[in-house]
Amino acid sequence: MPVIQYLTASEILDSRGRPTLRATCRLEGGASASASVPSGASTGSAEALELRDGDPQRYRGLGCRRAAANVSGPIADDLRGRDIAAQHDLDRLLIELDGTPNKSRLGANALLAVSLAFARAHAADAGVPFYQHLSGLIAPPCPARRTLPRMTINLFSGGKHAGAQLAVQDILVVPIAARTIDEGLAATFAVYQAAAELILRKYNMRVLRADEGGLAPAFPSTETALSDAVEAIEAAGFQPGRDVALAVDVASTHFYREGHYHLDGQALAAAAMIERIAAWTRDYPIISVEDGLAEEDWAHWPALRAAIGGRGGGGLGGALVLGDDLLCTNPARIRRAIESNAANALLLKVNQVGTLTEAADACRLARSAGWAVTVSARSGETEDDWLADLAVGWGGDQIKVGSITQSERLAKYNRLLAIEAETHWPVADWPTPSD
Ligand code: PGA
Ligand code: ZN
Repeated sequence: MPVIQYLTASEILDSRGRPTLRATCRLEGGASASASVPSGASTGSAEALELRDGDPQRYRGLGCRRAAANVSGPIADDLRGRDIAAQHDLDRLLIELDGTPNKSRLGANALLAVSLAFARAHAADAGVPFYQHLSGLIAPPCPARRTLPRMTINLFSGGKHAGAQLAVQDILVVPIAARTIDEGLAATFAVYQAAAELILRKYNMRVLRADEGGLAPAFPSTETALSDAVEAIEAAGFQPGRDVALAVDVASTHFYREGHYHLDGQALAAAAMIERIAAWTRDYPIISVEDGLAEEDWAHWPALRAAIGGRGGGGLGGALVLGDDLLCTNPARIRRAIESNAANALLLKVNQVGTLTEAADACRLARSAGWAVTVSARSGETEDDWLADLAVGWGGDQIKVGSITQSERLAKYNRLLAIEAETHWPVADWPTPSD
């Protein structure tokens, strides 16, 4: 039974140069591990609270010294020397110690850093790869899948990650015909390079990258960005929809005001927004639509799912209707979405909920409804690669890490390559959405 001997955390910087946390955990017996936590910008309002120092003189209030001190102080004091039978016991102790519904006392960033560092130390203690240890946290009832997640890779960026030149946040490529991670990355590289050449030619714009490494020219409209993505796929020698498909993160909460979606100079009511998205899925090879509607527009999500999620919608017999801000990896919100037929896929971000155990509960719940699961990084990431192990261990259908540039993104792709070389597991087939 693992016993924590030593636990500490320190402030480090993420890929935007903003503070975040790295925790280190050492167990009796000597196994030791560290883990870093990411941070979002286009955050859902139901996310667990990231504790920041609030001192305007330092990092504009974004410092994480208090969160780090909570790990090294009260959390370490409470956990040191205890027998901790399993991850869920550790996470329960963390939740009880915090004592608030949104983890605002000690900070979700502090809790998650401890949850992850403990899990990694436990895996090291057991002498098993981290993805294998993580798969033990999710089963049963989720059977070990022995597949690798299919990558959805950011090509074009807008929204909060790119100065809102384009309202829609991400246009992603999905190497749908690739049988391996290696093939998928090579195909994406070809499309990314073709897209960089295309935007230089068309917009006279050199490569400028957004937070997640996507290209970010001033597209005149969403449709132009989508057709440019299709053109880049063709220019790279692939057939759109057959070899390489598209996914979109609309992130529409961030352009929804007073009942209207403010898109490309128009103010659209929900029905018109749904019609616009349905037209995209008809006109372009889009197989996944994330946050097509706003996080509190619960009334219209079922109509969006009916319009694009079932057979007869876009793509491969229907698109994934993926909830990010809508669900916030929060079991209560996922339950509500299952009951109301609001979505058919979960975007899973562990730091939205704050511990591994709660994220595993969210994953299980989505699976029990027949949903797909996309495991996602954040726009503010670190060089840590645990997300790749988590996506494999939890049998994620997809992984969404950002673009094929920048080391905080590539750390995860490189880890997937290493897991592929070790396991030779196939990349998961694209799921067929349930009606
Ligand atoms: P975030 O964006 O990490 O800034 O929240 C990612 C996403 O919306 O999927
Ligand atoms: Zn999103």
